[in-house]
Amino acid sequence: MRKPNVVILGAGYGGLMTTVRLQKLIGVNEANITLVNKHDYHYETTWLHEASAGTLHHDRVRYPISDVIDRNKVKFIQDTVTKIIPNEKKVLLENGELTYDYLVIALGFESETFGIKGLKEYAFSIANVDAARQIREHIEYQFATYNAEEEKKEERLTIVVGGAGFTGIEFLGELANRMPELCREYDIDPHKVRIICVEAAPTALPGFDPELVEYAVSQLERKGVEFRIGTAIKECTPDGIIVAKGDDVEEIKAGTVIWAAGVRGSRVIEESGFEAARARIKVDPYLRVPGHEDIFVVGDCSLVIDEETNRPYPPTAQIAMQEGQLCAKNLAVLIRGQGELEPFKPDIKGTVCSLGHDDAIGVVFGKKLWGAKASFMKKVIDNRALYLIGGSSLVMKKGKFKFF
Ligand code: FAD
Ligand code: NAD
Repeated sequence: MRKPNVVILGAGYGGLMTTVRLQKLIGVNEANITLVNKHDYHYETTWLHEASAGTLHHDRVRYPISDVIDRNKVKFIQDTVTKIIPNEKKVLLENGELTYDYLVIALGFESETFGIKGLKEYAFSIANVDAARQIREHIEYQFATYNAEEEKKEERLTIVVGGAGFTGIEFLGELANRMPELCREYDIDPHKVRIICVEAAPTALPGFDPELVEYAVSQLERKGVEFRIGTAIKECTPDGIIVAKGDDVEEIKAGTVIWAAGVRGSRVIEESGFEAARARIKVDPYLRVPGHEDIFVVGDCSLVIDEETNRPYPPTAQIAMQEGQLCAKNLAVLIRGQGELEPFKPDIKGTVCSLGHDDAIGVVFGKKLWGAKASFMKKVIDNRALYLIGGSSLVMKKGKFKFF
C-alpha cells in the first residue's frame, strides 16, 4: 500500500511538536514525514527578547532540528515556503515543490504594523534569531558611535519600545537589566540613556491583573524605564517616532525603535488564498482548514475561539504546543484509518511574564505570583517547553538553571 505523505511546514513550537509526537506514534512504514523550515535550527521564540537585549547569547536560544527528529522517520528540508496550492495538494518552496496527502501549516507569526508609516523601514521587531542579533548589535552600535562622534547625538542613547504587551514588557525587563553593564562597556553616563515605552491602551498589559501590572510598571520604572501610556505611535521616521495622545502630537527622537505592538500569521496564508483574519485561519474543532480536511493549522497561523469569552485565544507557545500534540494524534488516526479524531480543547495553565532574569509576574493555576517565585516559575515553564520537545537531554543542554 502507498504510504501517505505528511508535510509539516515550520519547525517552531507547533510544527516541531507535531513532528516529534508523530514520529513516536507511527512506524517507519506507515507514512513519509517531511518537515520544512527556513533554518536548520529551531529557536525558542519565547526567549528572543533576551537575545535581542543581549542578556542571553543567540546560540543559547536555538538548537539544531536534527537533535530532536528521528531521521529514519522524518526527512528534513531546509527551505522557505512561498505558497500552498490546496487544489493541487502542492507546496511551493523557494527551491522546489512538494506534494502532500496531509499538510500541517505551522509557519508562525510575523510582526503586524497596521500600515503605520515607516515602521517596516525604520523599526525593528523581535521576530526571529536574525532580528534579535540585529537589535542587540544596533543598540551596541548606537552606544559605540555616541562616544566616537565629536558632536554628541543624545538620541543615539534613546531606545523606544512600541507596545506594552507581554513582548514589550519582557524586552524592557531584559534591556533595563543590561543597561548598567552596557553603559560601563561603552563609557556612557547611565543618566543620558532613555528607555521609553509607548502604549496606546489606557494601561500596560491590557487585560492582565491590574495589581500585577502595577507591580511590573513600578519595577521597570525603578530601573529607569519611562512609560507613555494612552499614547499611540503614529509614524516611524529615520530619526525616531511620532506619537499622539488625544490631540497632542509629539516627536520622540530615538536611535533605536523596537515595534512590539502586535503580531499576525504568516504571509504564506494570505498568498495562498486561504480565508483568514490577519493571516490566522479559523480552524475547525480538529484544527483543520474548513473545506480542506487534509490541511491542519497549528500555532500562530491558527485561530481558535474561546467559547467562554467568544474571543480568539491569544497566540501563544502554550497553545501552539498543545495544538501540535493533538495534531500528531489526529494525523496518526488518519494515517491508520482507525479511531476517531479528537477535538482541540486548550488547557490554559496560566501566564507568566518575565521582568528580566530575576523578576516576573504571573497567574498560574489561578494563583497570582510576582518577584522571585514568578521568576522561578518562568524558568520552569521555559525548561518544560524544552522537555516536551527534546526530553531531558535537551533540558540538560539548553535549560535555564540559574533560578535566583
Ligand atoms: P514560531 O515559533 O514562530 O515558529 C515558526 C517557524 O516557522 C520558525 O521556525 C520559522 O523559521 C519558520 N518559518 C516561518 N516562515 C517560514 C517559511 N515561509 N518557510 C519556512 N519556514 C518558515 N508564548 C507563550 O506561551 N509564553 C511566553 O512566555 C511567550 N513569550 C514570548 C516572547 C516573545 C519575545 C515573543 C515574540 C513571543 C512570545 N510568546 C510566548 C508567543 C509565542 O512565541 C508564539 O505564540 C509561538 O512562537 C508560536 O509558535 P509557532 O510554532 O506558531 O511559530
Ligand atoms: P500584543 O498584541 O499582545 O500587545 C501589543 C500591545 O501594543 C498592546 O498592548 C497594544 O495596545 C499596543 N499597541 C498597538 N498598537 C499600538 C500603537 N500604534 N502604539 C502604541 N501601542 C500600540 O502583542 P505581543 O506583546 O507581541 O504578544 C503577542 C502574543 O504573544 C500574545 O498572544 C501574547 O500573549 C504572547 N506573548 C506571551 C508572553 C508570555 O506569556 N510571557 C510573552 C510575549 C508574548
